[in-house]
Amino acid sequence: MATNGENQNGRHQEVGHKSLLQSDALYQYILDTSVYPKEPEPMKELREITAKHPWNIMTTSADEGQFLSMLLKLINAKNTMEIGVFIGYYLLATTMALPDDGQILAMNINRENYEIGLPVIEKVGLAHKIEFKEGHALPVLDQMLEDGKYHETYDFIFVDAGKENYLNYHKILIDLVKIGGLIGYNNTLWNGSVVAPSYVPLRKYVRYYRDFLLEPNKALVADPRIEICQLSVGDGITFCHHIG
Ligand code: SAM
Repeated sequence: MATNGENQNGRHQEVGHKSLLQSDALYQYILDTSVYPKEPEPMKELREITAKHPWNIMTTSADEGQFLSMLLKLINAKNTMEIGVFIGYYLLATTMALPDDGQILAMNINRENYEIGLPVIEKVGLAHKIEFKEGHALPVLDQMLEDGKYHETYDFIFVDAGKENYLNYHKILIDLVKIGGLIGYNNTLWNGSVVAPSYVPLRKYVRYYRDFLLEPNKALVADPRIEICQLSVGDGITFCHHIG
């Protein structure tokens, strides 16, 4: 019998259920009390579309989306980037949080999932804020670095793909983010597995990516160009404030 909010395929029934809270009931309480009552209708629609996708666990959760949306407004973000779009829950949240002349450069390895969510963003008239780039993020970022014109231009960068490249991304992103800007690396507590002893059985993909997250977790705290703050929202997110 499935436990811990997972269905029999090993995926959580609740879309984006990546909370590190010990109790599912407590997490549900947060969603029901503070998140869903304030969730804008188009985001609810996108979340429900995402729920039907076999990989719905990949989405940004509603509570993390709400938090990031508030953060974007608080820092008056205008020029932003997302690495790893999936169906676009965070992307929609960003287009709603940015001012009318705000921009998000959204990257994903392929377009098919992005195109599932795009009609919702188009319906609310916010697609003009998106520049979508299809492909592996690293070569795209390499090209941007080489170009020179993106140097210190981003207010906020949300990194939510390619865990194996977080440190490679960081080498480039630190050049692209403004001094005073933020980079958020998602999933840095990786299902809580970062503290799992070696004898604990982990799902194959959790074990495989765990070491890729342990590495940046050690390296980011030692980078003198940033202040960091690791939060246990969603699956763990590490914010890096570029202080120069
Ligand atoms: N941020 C998304 C949201 O708000 O729902 C969730 C992103 S999901 C965890 C990761 C996405 O990154 C997937 O859509 C996957 O196709 C994409 N991806 C994986 N590796 C990538 C890479 N190297 N470069 C760009 N996209 C990648």
